[in-house]
Amino acid sequence: MQNLRFLNFFTLLQIITTRVKMQQIAVDLKAQGKSLGFVPTMGALHNGHLSLISRSIAENDVTVCSIFVNPTQFNDPADLDKYPRPIEADIEKLKSANCDYLFLPSVDEMYTKGETWHLELGYLETILEGAFRPGHYQGVTQIVKKLFDIVQPTRAYFGQKDYQQIMVILKMVEMFNIPVTIIRCPTVREEEGLAMSSRNVHLKEKEPQTALKLSEALAFIKSKTGKGSLPEVLKEAKDLINEAQIGLEYLVITDGATLKEISEWGQSAEPVALIAAKVGNTRLIDNMVLV
Ligand code: AMP
Repeated sequence: MQNLRFLNFFTLLQIITTRVKMQQIAVDLKAQGKSLGFVPTMGALHNGHLSLISRSIAENDVTVCSIFVNPTQFNDPADLDKYPRPIEADIEKLKSANCDYLFLPSVDEMYTKGETWHLELGYLETILEGAFRPGHYQGVTQIVKKLFDIVQPTRAYFGQKDYQQIMVILKMVEMFNIPVTIIRCPTVREEEGLAMSSRNVHLKEKEPQTALKLSEALAFIKSKTGKGSLPEVLKEAKDLINEAQIGLEYLVITDGATLKEISEWGQSAEPVALIAAKVGNTRLIDNMVLV
């Protein structure tokens, strides 16, 4: 495996823009017995994305990254409009990362007119991101199902940064019995703690500093996990957020497997704290596993 990677070192990144071509490549690779790692993204690549790509390269014969700013998962048209799209820089990063394929389709390539989609996601869609971004997970499952059908990955890599998203994807994989292994990868952070995100480029003036409060509040909860009263710890963490110019949407401590809120430490073997907040006009999410 190691030697093969070395031989492949000078392989150029191939950019594929049609689903027919991408699927043909995937079918041919699978017929040759190759394992295929897949990293779906919306571009504006940062080290968080690149960590998923490195992991995929280490664990698979071939790695495909997709860049597609998926309109159906945006419930705010302004958010879709201003989503960063630095495609030239992204291509350079993928080349340096030694990624094999970039799947870069247009919106028309991925969607036909009047297309509808609904998946019964149940409880997961009524809480946290599901509640604050109605329809978001319908759009996410719609596009990821299409991408999985095209790329047919052996393994697909997702960031823990989008904790609830992974749970939704796992549910979809189970519902459709899709033969793919979902790999959850740790959140990559800036040196001071801010979770890397394509949206961080929108943070202006003092906002990057203010945004640090999110990871600080999560780290505070982690440092107090198992000690004292959980509601008290949660209140102190919320106070930390509310002292800053931050529009808190939610800060909760839940069981990591169900995302149901807990009120005592003993109620979960793997608690996780999750936060969503607006810093200026930029909506950020983050989470921390507390064990
Ligand atoms: P996005 O382009 O934001 O849709 O993200 C594409 C993938 O990268 C998703 O699986 C994200 O969870 C993952 N990702 C985004 N930010 C990070 C990060 N800071 N650390 C690790 N993975 C990340």
